[in-house]
Formats: sequence, structure tokens, C-alpha cells
Amino acid sequence: MSTSISPLSNMNCDVAVIGGGPGGAALATFLARAGHRCTIFEQAKFPRYHIGESLIPHTHGIFERLGLLPQLRASCFPVKHSVRFVSHNGKESVPFYFSETIHGERARTWQVERSQFDCMMLDHARANGVEVHEQISIDKVIFENAQAAGLQVVSGDGSRADVSAKVVVDASGRACVIGRQLGLRSPLPELRKASVWGYFRGGKRLPGIDAGETTMFLIPGGGWFWYIPLPDDIVSVGIVADPEYVFLLSDDMEDAFTREVALCAPLADRLSAAERVGPVRGSRHLAYLNRQTCGDGWVMIGDARAFLDPIYSSGLYLALGSAELAAQCIDDALKNDDVSAARLGRFEPALWKGVDVVRRLIHAFYDPAFSFSKFAERFPEHRAALIDCLVGDVIKDMSAFTAALAQMTPPPPPLGSNIAKSSEPIPADAQRDCALASP
Ligand SMILES: Cc1cc2nc3c(=O)[nH]c(=O)nc-3n(C[C@H](O)[C@H](O)[C@H](O)COP(=O)(O)OP(=O)(O)OC[C@H]3O[C@@H](n4cnc5c(N)ncnc54)[C@H](O)[C@@H]3O)c2cc1C
Repeated sequence: MSTSISPLSNMNCDVAVIGGGPGGAALATFLARAGHRCTIFEQAKFPRYHIGESLIPHTHGIFERLGLLPQLRASCFPVKHSVRFVSHNGKESVPFYFSETIHGERARTWQVERSQFDCMMLDHARANGVEVHEQISIDKVIFENAQAAGLQVVSGDGSRADVSAKVVVDASGRACVIGRQLGLRSPLPELRKASVWGYFRGGKRLPGIDAGETTMFLIPGGGWFWYIPLPDDIVSVGIVADPEYVFLLSDDMEDAFTREVALCAPLADRLSAAERVGPVRGSRHLAYLNRQTCGDGWVMIGDARAFLDPIYSSGLYLALGSAELAAQCIDDALKNDDVSAARLGRFEPALWKGVDVVRRLIHAFYDPAFSFSKFAERFPEHRAALIDCLVGDVIKDMSAFTAALAQMTPPPPPLGSNIAKSSEPIPADAQRDCALASP
């Protein structure tokens, strides 16, 4: 391994961000606009592939505050007005149109091709004054006296450097750089799902405003497929189900995907004239969270904090939402020269409460005794709250809704109460007080 000196040696910044995905790019944009010296270190060279293509409408306000709406409006991303469920025998639900609870442009959003979308966001961060270094990987976070003090970076040529920062933000997605370094990341045994996905050219599209809808095809046994129309006549298709089910007959992802698509008759019909393009990809264990998500001098955002399940397409919203909330706390912390966990983590209780609403709805979805139509029939006064969940408007008081939900499906154990303990010890000096709180 080369030990040459990196040109990044002796660099220092106010905020060092690990990862230039949507969460990292949004956070850095907000902070650069607030006057802070913000640097993103991204291991890939953009554009790069990423899964997670369906936005939810509550991202609208964040895009507006970021100044990204003009680019999104001018993009070729299909416009999404609704979500529809299709049962395994082909029975279709009435679409859940977001316009039932939201008016005007905020009632629609986009299905994004991630390599283009993520580039758009990272370029926007640069245009707002963020320093971006691509093809620079973060090896580890440097701690001094129990406080994050910077990053150890590795360039493509193998050269290394230590970069100092007042605040370190982990926006590394599923790589969970801090979570793995400190042994905080744990699988969520209550939500054991696998996913396998691929892309098709020429899948059928519905007419009119339904052309950009997300269609969910339910399969027997509690699994489901997404069907997400993308630009250039491409459609993203993926299955989410128990790992034992997906890999029952073959451990091979392509075999499993091809078999399951053929078995789901209403989906196979949509794809009857389509050809598959590109590789089949997958993840055998989707859900995890970190037992602690901020500390002195550091914060996690987006998938680096937690990932539950793709069923409500909440991942990008939670990445952008946590980025905006964390940016406000970091701005406040830097202005007050106090980067303690208590100050940096002020946004966490409200965020975890919102995440918990989504989690309860995920559990409801996988409960065979629960159905959205039965819930809406029994509690018509909560149909609007149900749509709020589908659009992502969950960081607010949803107690009446969750109480109604609990009458039809038992609430899951408190968030974080039953996560498997990681085998890696947490270094004593890295354990701080902002541990994951059960809302
Ligand atoms: C099967 C599946 C389906 C999904 N479907 C949806 C959906 O329909 N809608 C939705 O909203 N969400 C969906 N998601 C979730 C969505 O993909 C994520 O929530 C979203 O990408 C999180 O954004 P992020 O910025 O936190 O992380 P990411 O987008 O993952 O960005 C992290 C970045 O960090 C970089 N990085 C990692 N390690 C390092 C390192 N050591 N040094 C430097 N850089 C590093 C990576 O290269 C990457 O660019 C889905 C997820 C899965 C698994």
C-alpha cells in the first residue's frame, strides 16, 4: 500500500461530510449557505448507480428551500401523482392520489433516475460553495478526547491524509462509516426482509396522470413488488420479501428475480413485451439501525442512521429531512461554539417520532390481518392521516392515527428495544449521551 502524502494533508474545515449522496449534498448545501466551510468526501466518481428511485411529495418543501425545484421541473423524470396496490389475483386498489390531502404542485413528485438525480444534487452543492472531493474514501473518523475531530481520508492513488473538522457528518448511506467503526450498527430482527431488483425497457405504462404512479404488486406470503416508471422507457422492478422466501429455491439473485417476476401474473402482464436491461442486484438484509446516532462533534443522517424498509418510499425523504434538521442544529452549534451531542442532537426526538410512525405502518403492512381498505372503512376520519404517511408528512403529532392503528394491529416493540447487540465493543471514549431514544 502506498504511504505517499495526500494533497489533502493539513486541510481543515468547519464541517466534513462523509458521502455525497442526497443526504450529504443537501446538508452541505444548507450549511454552506449559512456561511460554514463545508467539505464533502465521496468515494465514488459521479454519476454512479444507486437504488431508491421513488420520491414522496413531502420532499417538495425541502427542494424548494434548497432551490432545486427549477431543475426538477425541467428534468425528464416521470411525474408521480399516486400509489396503487394490486393484489396477487390482479384486483387493483383505487389509486391513493396525493391531491386528496395536498393542493397544487405539492401534490406531485418525481420518479428519479438516481445517477442523474444524485449528480444534480451534488452539482447544486458545489454551486452553493461546498468543496466536493470525489474518489476520496473515508477510512475512519478521528476522535480526540471522546470528540470527533476529523477524518482519515484515502485517495484513489492510496495516499492518506488527516483532515480536521469541527463537526463530522456521516452521510455514507448503508456503508454506515461511524456505525461500523464504533460498533453501533445492528440488524433489526423485527423487520427481516431481502430485496432483489432489475430494470426493463418497454414495460406497460398507464394512461394520463397514472403513467408515473408507483404500483405495488402484492404476492402471497406478505411480499411485494415495486413498479416504478423511469425516463427512457425504463421501469424499475424489485421484490421485497422474507429472505427465506426469496432464496428458497436458489441462492442466485438473477434466478430468484426471474422466477418471482414470472410467478406474479399481473406484473408479468405489464412486462410481457419488455426486455430486461442491466444486471439484477439485491440486498439480503435490508433493515438496520444504529444504537446511537450522534455524539460530541458528530452526527449521522440518512441511511447512515437507519434503514427500515422501502415499502413507503420514505428513504430519500428521511435522508433529506434529517439533513435539513441536522444542518439547523450544526449551524446553531457552530455559532455557539458548542458541538456537544446534546446541542447537535436536538433534532433527534422529533425525527425518531416520525420514523416510528413509518415503522408502525410498515409493521401494519406486513401483518396479514391488517388491510388499508379495512382501516380506511373503519376509521374514515384517519384516511387523510394515512395519506399523510404515504406522502411523508409524519414529523408532527400523529398520536390519534397511531392509536387507531393499534386497534387493528398490535404495535411493534418500542423502537430500538430489541436490536441485536453488536459484537464489536463501543470504545469507551466514543460513547456519548445521545443514544437512540424510544419515542
Ligand atoms: C431495495 C431498496 C429500495 C429503495 N427504494 C426507495 C424508494 O423507492 N424511494 C426512496 O426514497 N428510497 C428508497 N430506498 C432508500 C434510498 O435508497 C436511501 O434512503 C437513500 O439513497 C439514502 O440517501 P443517503 O444520502 O443517506 O445515502 P446514499 O444515497 O447511499 O449516499 C451515500 C454516499 O456515501 C458514499 N460513501 C459510502 N461510504 C463512503 C466512504 N467510506 N467514504 C466516502 N464516501 C462514502 C457512497 O458512495 C454514496 O454516494 C430504497 C432502498 C433499498 C435498499
